[in-house]
Amino acid sequence: APVLLWLRRDLRLADHPALLAAVARGGPVIPVFIRDEQVTGLGCAPQWRLGLALDVFAQTLAALGSRLILRSGPAKQVLADLIRDTGASAVYWTRAYDPQAIARDTDVKTVLKAQGIDAQSHAGHLLFEPWAVKTGAGGFYKVFTPYWKAARQLGVSPAQAAPTQLPAPDQWPVSETLQDWNLGAGMRRGGVVLRGYVTPGAAAAQARLDRFIADGIDRYQDRRDMPGVDGTSGMSAYLALGEISPRQCWQAGQRAMFGGAQGAETFLKELVWREFAYHLMFHTPHIVDRNWKPEWDTFPWNTDATHPDVVAWQQGRTGVPFVDAAMREMYVTGRMHNRGRMIVASYLTKHLMTHWRIGQQWFADCLTDWDPASNAMGWQWAAGSGPDAAPYFRVFNPVTQLAKFDPKGLYARAWIAEGQANPPQTALDYFTAIPKRWGLSPQDRYPAPVVELAAGRQRALEAYQGRNS
Ligand code: FAD
Repeated sequence: APVLLWLRRDLRLADHPALLAAVARGGPVIPVFIRDEQVTGLGCAPQWRLGLALDVFAQTLAALGSRLILRSGPAKQVLADLIRDTGASAVYWTRAYDPQAIARDTDVKTVLKAQGIDAQSHAGHLLFEPWAVKTGAGGFYKVFTPYWKAARQLGVSPAQAAPTQLPAPDQWPVSETLQDWNLGAGMRRGGVVLRGYVTPGAAAAQARLDRFIADGIDRYQDRRDMPGVDGTSGMSAYLALGEISPRQCWQAGQRAMFGGAQGAETFLKELVWREFAYHLMFHTPHIVDRNWKPEWDTFPWNTDATHPDVVAWQQGRTGVPFVDAAMREMYVTGRMHNRGRMIVASYLTKHLMTHWRIGQQWFADCLTDWDPASNAMGWQWAAGSGPDAAPYFRVFNPVTQLAKFDPKGLYARAWIAEGQANPPQTALDYFTAIPKRWGLSPQDRYPAPVVELAAGRQRALEAYQGRNS
């Protein structure tokens, strides 16, 4: 009898334990992707990017004589229908760790098992299962450095090769189509521009990783903080959708490290920051939508997402070049440099004293590498409300930060057209991507700061002290 391979954020053939286990059963394998509420609940850009990933992956499967079956509805219902239609006796999938997915998957597993179906979840999204890294007392880590030390001790098993064939069933079940799904519906103008900045699929991920190992990893430590330089791996969106596995990245980084590449160890450490985010999300799931430290619940955040300061932040028109360059980079490319993320998050939560949830939601709409764990950890770190967070009184100054990390002014020039005689294409693309109703043009004057930096900082610190008194 066939096995249903229920695909989620694991759109690859290589290093895919659930897929290998499905093949090892010896019977036909039916790959399925379900458009359930986890998918329809995604923001615009992640949903659009998922559509590209599914398209490439369906072609990859077709080249092996297999198919990607697409169905919509609650997972439990869809799987029951498919079991009835195909006579499948097993369902295998790769584990997910956000609270919503855990609730869904636990329920699905219980129901399937009660029906005598061989329901199996496998590792594959992480290097370390969140429960595998334990403190001496058997608990979980709230601080990165000891987590990193403990995780390294465990070691990482080698990545597994892709299967050479995927046995097809005699008859395929009915499938919906990606055209019907129109996962990019929310994107409109932005999607057209974004398409030029995104190369989906496992082969593209591997090529980009190879290029980074060959040309970038040596200088990674020096360049990873420079937002105007293409000095990082660019793996985040591929990892978010599972077009590449973290073990594939880890192995490539480790080989480079043994080969003497400077910067390789820093790269491995960054990969483990992603693991740490998942560790935190698993052990304290409220990190995704509530202050990790409840004492922040009384902080006088602005919670109005329509406030003009928030709109200026979203539109990259705060009058602070580092903030505006980063917000526009995200709108155009679906990604934002890590230093930019730290700066815009600090600026929103401190200078504009706005709740991190508002920023998190905007990121969830705009980032093609949106990831529930890294995004929540990043925001709570910046806001000061999270574990291992930057203390609230450490307010980044976006002017001195830009001077330090972008001394040649490459970043602002790349993204801010206003005031430039010949703006580069990147800066102009922003005006093509944004909705017409924003009414912006590259000929506008660059806006004056919405808040004077020293005053904004002062206001935040006073609110913080008030909260503590
Ligand atoms: P590289 O520098 O090449 O790093 C390699 C990999 O390590 C990354 O792909 C990523 O998987 C991991 N990594 C690196 N830095 C971090 C970090 N700080 N936290 C967790 N993992 C990390 N990352 C996302 O993938 N999705 C998000 O939605 C996301 N939201 C963020 C929000 C805020 C406010 C902040 C401060 C950070 C956020 N990050 C997020 C983390 C980080 O900015 C990105 O992972 C990184 O910029 C991706 O670029 P890269 O792949 O070239 O990274």
